[in-house]
Amino acid sequence: MADFSSLGLSDWLVKQCKQLGINKPTPVQENCMPPILEGRDCMGCAKTGSGKTAAFVLPVVQKLSEDPYGIFCLVLTPTRSLAYQIAEQFRVLGKPLGLRDCIIVGGMDMVSQALELSNQPHVVVATPGRLADHIRSSDTFSMSKIQFLILDEADRLLEQGCTDFTKDLETILATLPAKRQTLLFSATLTDTLHELKNIAMNKPFFWESKSETRTVEELDQRYILTPEKVKDAYLVHLIQTFTDEHDDWSIIIFTNTCKDCQVLTMMLREFNFPTISLHSMMKQKQRFANLAKFKASVFKILVATDVAARGLDIPTVQVVINHNTPGLPKIYIHRVGRTARAGRNGVSITLVTQYDIHLVHSIEGQIQTKLKEYPVEEKEVLKILTQVNVTRREIEIKLESTDFDEKKEINKRKQLILEGKDPDLEAKRKAELEKIRSQKKKQKHGQLKKKLIKRKQLKKKKAAQATA
Ligand code: AMP
Repeated sequence: MADFSSLGLSDWLVKQCKQLGINKPTPVQENCMPPILEGRDCMGCAKTGSGKTAAFVLPVVQKLSEDPYGIFCLVLTPTRSLAYQIAEQFRVLGKPLGLRDCIIVGGMDMVSQALELSNQPHVVVATPGRLADHIRSSDTFSMSKIQFLILDEADRLLEQGCTDFTKDLETILATLPAKRQTLLFSATLTDTLHELKNIAMNKPFFWESKSETRTVEELDQRYILTPEKVKDAYLVHLIQTFTDEHDDWSIIIFTNTCKDCQVLTMMLREFNFPTISLHSMMKQKQRFANLAKFKASVFKILVATDVAARGLDIPTVQVVINHNTPGLPKIYIHRVGRTARAGRNGVSITLVTQYDIHLVHSIEGQIQTKLKEYPVEEKEVLKILTQVNVTRREIEIKLESTDFDEKKEINKRKQLILEGKDPDLEAKRKAELEKIRSQKKKQKHGQLKKKLIKRKQLKKKKAAQATA
């Protein structure tokens, strides 16, 4: 196996890595760093926890030490917490250089961000929305000299999912020089990425982890088949068992909705588990504060929605519990990737109801691994079932009286206003779209029905002819 020196890293940087306990390159580093140092564009598809951040941070820091000039590198990433994590790696590895980074994400003060940008940091780590806002509203900084553009979690940046970054990306790309190195990194590879390979990049070096599975071998992947009504009792039982047996373990529980996240957090607290939550209805400052408390093991249990599913790197996380079975294998891969990172062991347990079995099959197809059943003493679970369900119901009633749903609506409206849209007009537009969609659906349904009737008639006719 190669060492960092043989990959082309300078001695001072190898030393800096050693100080951090990074001694041997991981496969994504071994494969992607040499072409990046040669000046090639690069696409890397690597498992979460495989060291992909350092695979781009190290070459950029080395190149920066050779020829620093203006804003040298721009990293775009889909979530705010990832931006902080990436910036931290730049700061630590680039410390001997006095590397200056600047984090541009939503939810933070725009004026101080604008000031930082105008001070020409070496590296800007940003979420697309907020950076595009700065570009549209100010001319006090320029990115026309950047040498590196890095898209981290590129598939999510390029997809048109619940957050559509397309417009913001267009605004940002228009300010960047054509002559630059472009690096794309992602844990999951989609058609969008393949498309980009042909469009925006200059004969990129392409690397994908050889292993067919996209979850690491150190991860013990389990499931528990449970009726919906018994799910929470299983959850409480699991948490009780893990906290009794391993007092140094941290646990992340993923849920589907902000409300469920809130309910489960309150419920686990009722059972005296040190629990904290992370979801998109919380203010950014609160999210950071909660994450910091979880990272410092002040709270050992984090209940989160998929805002925490990508990239979070917390070594003490030994268990990931999926309170709902993710609808997409990709989301499953990201969630369970929060444990068993960088060669450590970990376990993931997915609570599966009878309606989710097809989802498990498609997850297993994607990761090419069969989930194993997690053995649980059902008797123990049934003992606490009533108590758990009553507690949940009480909490739901409490939440109903605290206008949680109303707050959600207000947050949605606020977001639309910040995007320069009229919430009432948007609601109208959505309703119209919905109407058109349902009309089309009806039409399709009608056509299908006609076709079926025709086919039946034809069959009948043929059968009659055959008997005649
Ligand atoms: P990432 O896949 O970038 O989220 O990295 C996951 C974790 O692995 C981070 O905590 C890194 O500091 C750590 N790491 C990165 N490269 C190495 C390496 N070569 N050896 C050991 N740990 C590493």
